[in-house]
Amino acid sequence: MEPFQMQKKSSIPYFVLSLWQEEFPHLTVGFSAREEGFSPMHHNYALHVRDRPSHVIENRKSLMRDLSFSLDSFTCGEQVHGVTIAYVTDRDRGRGNRDRESAFSDTDGLFSSEEDLLLASFYADCVPLFFYAPEIDVIGVAHAGWKGTVQKIGPKMIDEMVTKGADRSKIRVAIGPSIGVCCYEVDEHVLRPMKDALACQDLPLSVALSTATYKAMLDLKEANAQLCKQVGLRDDQIVKSNYCTSCSKEYFHSHRRDKGDTGRMIAFIGKRVRS
Ligand SMILES: [Zn+2]
Repeated sequence: MEPFQMQKKSSIPYFVLSLWQEEFPHLTVGFSAREEGFSPMHHNYALHVRDRPSHVIENRKSLMRDLSFSLDSFTCGEQVHGVTIAYVTDRDRGRGNRDRESAFSDTDGLFSSEEDLLLASFYADCVPLFFYAPEIDVIGVAHAGWKGTVQKIGPKMIDEMVTKGADRSKIRVAIGPSIGVCCYEVDEHVLRPMKDALACQDLPLSVALSTATYKAMLDLKEANAQLCKQVGLRDDQIVKSNYCTSCSKEYFHSHRRDKGDTGRMIAFIGKRVRS
């Protein structure tokens, strides 16, 4: 079953991770969507692409309103395909919500224990990783393209949460919509470091043969799942989306499909104030 469910009641399209929201009702967790047939910047949430900043802020505001959060609680980093992870405190609330300058610089992972604070990160094919440590009530999100994956941003986030007191055997990881094994052709440049990171010969690949050449198709979501298991997580702690951002044109921006000129979805996770 697909863990990310399209939210239909809203005029703004987005997916929610129903599985987690049902089990932990104070959590808001999901992934934004686009709508087919509009401009490539329709439902774009990132300020670093060719879109009017005012338009991006309006999109963020509308989505936040729908999620019962305010734009003041929207907090994000400037992603660089690295593995820097920041712990977000109450003082950081709203960093990056209206401009790029105030965002966490060079940061691809965010985690926090604050309520009424929405952690957001940006995607157009890369893998969104969501984290929740229930017994310490800490949330996290991390951006894993192939570079973040081979540098092990997922395991790093798990270790950071354990340092804050999380029980490794209870941490949940959700792997969101990203480019799928159907569409992610890679070469040696990616395969070599991936082999080193996974420390195995059996990469999650589907190798397609054409008459002239081999094509290696990488399953980047599965690579991230395997890396989380390398640091002690079990299968039942991990859920994985089946959506391919490149195939599902009706829902997703895709950097590869749209040849770089496209908007960004956001992955979001927040804790609502409990009364
Ligand atoms: Zn695909």
